[in-house]
Amino acid sequence: MPEQSTKSPEEELQEKYNSIMDKISDLHAEAGDIRLRLFEICKHRNFVAKRKHYEGGYFDRAETVYWNECTICGRHFNEQTKVFNYG
Ligand SMILES: [Zn+2]
Repeated sequence: MPEQSTKSPEEELQEKYNSIMDKISDLHAEAGDIRLRLFEICKHRNFVAKRKHYEGGYFDRAETVYWNECTICGRHFNEQTKVFNYG
């Protein structure tokens, strides 16, 4: 078996893993910048109505949040919360 590297297999995998994680965090930062630029220039011309229901717990009341979401940049508008009372 030829000796190609002094690194152990686990060190090689660790190195690959770390290099991929570095790329992911770079891409994450780049995506964040692009999203901010999108927020700045978006004219919010197209909306879709969204809702999310939160189940109440023993101490929390159940509520449903409604909003309009821009289909381009994903920004929320006219967010309203409907709270459901006990009983
Ligand atoms: Zn928008």
